[in-house]
Amino acid sequence: MEFDTIITNGTIVDGTGKQEPYVADIGIQNDKIIDIGDLSHVDSSHSISADGQVVCPGFVDVHVHSEISLLGGRDQYAPLMQGITTHLAAPDGFGWAPLSPQRAQEFWHYTQFAYGDAQVALNWQTPDEYLSIFDGNIPANLYPQVPHCAVRLHAMGWDARPATSDELKLMEKTTREWLDAGACCLCLGLDYQPSANADLNELVYLSKVAISYDAIYAAHIRYQLIGRKAAWEETIEIAQQAEIPVHISHERVDAESVEVLERVDQEDIDLTFESYLYPAGMTHLAMLLPMEFQTGTPDDMLANLENSDVRIKSLPYLREKLGQGNQIVGYNKSGRYIGKLLSEAAESESKSYEEFAYDFIQDELAIETFMMPWVTPPEENEKVLNRTASHPRMMIASDGVYNIPHPHPRSYGCFVQYLGKFVRERKLVSMKEAIYKMSGFPAERFRLSDRGKIAKGLAADIVVFDPDTVADRSTWFDSVQPPIGVNWVFVNGVSVIENGNVTGELPGKVLRKGR
Ligand SMILES: [Zn+2]
Repeated sequence: MEFDTIITNGTIVDGTGKQEPYVADIGIQNDKIIDIGDLSHVDSSHSISADGQVVCPGFVDVHVHSEISLLGGRDQYAPLMQGITTHLAAPDGFGWAPLSPQRAQEFWHYTQFAYGDAQVALNWQTPDEYLSIFDGNIPANLYPQVPHCAVRLHAMGWDARPATSDELKLMEKTTREWLDAGACCLCLGLDYQPSANADLNELVYLSKVAISYDAIYAAHIRYQLIGRKAAWEETIEIAQQAEIPVHISHERVDAESVEVLERVDQEDIDLTFESYLYPAGMTHLAMLLPMEFQTGTPDDMLANLENSDVRIKSLPYLREKLGQGNQIVGYNKSGRYIGKLLSEAAESESKSYEEFAYDFIQDELAIETFMMPWVTPPEENEKVLNRTASHPRMMIASDGVYNIPHPHPRSYGCFVQYLGKFVRERKLVSMKEAIYKMSGFPAERFRLSDRGKIAKGLAADIVVFDPDTVADRSTWFDSVQPPIGVNWVFVNGVSVIENGNVTGELPGKVLRKGR
């Protein structure tokens, strides 16, 4: 027998979270793992020594704004350098298919804060047409979710009201198109337009469609309109009414969520969540406006902001949300103040923080992105992060944003930070458990049957890293920094990272649930 590649003598951490690490060789042929064990007697044209290194399944990132950046640009390989081999599409329910070119353009404008200046065609009549742009053009795998924002826009535009029964039927039709195309999950961004306008009835209705395909429900929950605790509870309500497994995006274990998590345990609710484990989020300032002024297309919203009453009502609201003005500018249309604090930018224009923010949304035509530090004290943040890092329902996901001048450090560092800081330095999680939270757990949860584990016959998505040195290097003010210690990454049997260097190969596939 002969293999294309043999990875020899590595410590295999298999992604199941159950098997203890063990030393073995792995044989790869074409895109599959063919054998595991002592393969010293086997020929191979390509043998890689993994002495002293961990060999584990490629990581699965279930919440990441990478689908466009995987097609090209500065950050095309940034997630791979951390070992991420599969990306879920449509985070926060963002998507542009199937929409008319005009609606797609409107929604591109709305989502540009998370996708940068990329040029895309924006004319996809079906989910399959959209997914076809990735075939042969991406270095990692892309796994679709149903983008609720596009589903709702397609049925009823930007209307800020509950759907009629006819509109629900239209939404069901588009949801089914995505599920038929292999989507694994109904994904929502309930603080974003137009998803924020969906009522519980709509969410349950569409969840029942999703679960009929064994797809799950994942959401950026409704923090803004109903508050965090109620938003967790609404998610539980959906789990119960639609009998669907639910997943909550970018969360953490603190006093507020722990109460709900206790109830989840007691009532045995099928709920998971994900964390990136940094004490700051990233989004657009527009999200800090009162929700009633965020509705409509970006142009509608901008026209609304011209109204002096809207300004008067918004400023106190912004003042409260902006706190000390320690938000960091990540991106905006004109390229101003990149990497600076909002407080510095406001002072340079002799404006209050809230005046600056309001004007900035207008001047930048609502294309602006900020890192937003948590408002709690740093010592408390570290406690919360530590507590979150080992929670049994938690998996790692980056919420990375790419192709913008100054991304959040999680874009280049999330998965390796977990290995360096939380596993090696703080010893809060075993290597076996950590790898599970980055591979086997997300794969199982999102119905990815042939990945997320090291086993014979599964896809050869494999990471080789040095457990003694693996670490992130991206920081708040210098965030475009590749990690160290990730030496080899294989996607579908092809090496995309070799000895820590990008090869330029594009072996990624569109993965489809049930195929
Ligand atoms: Zn989100």
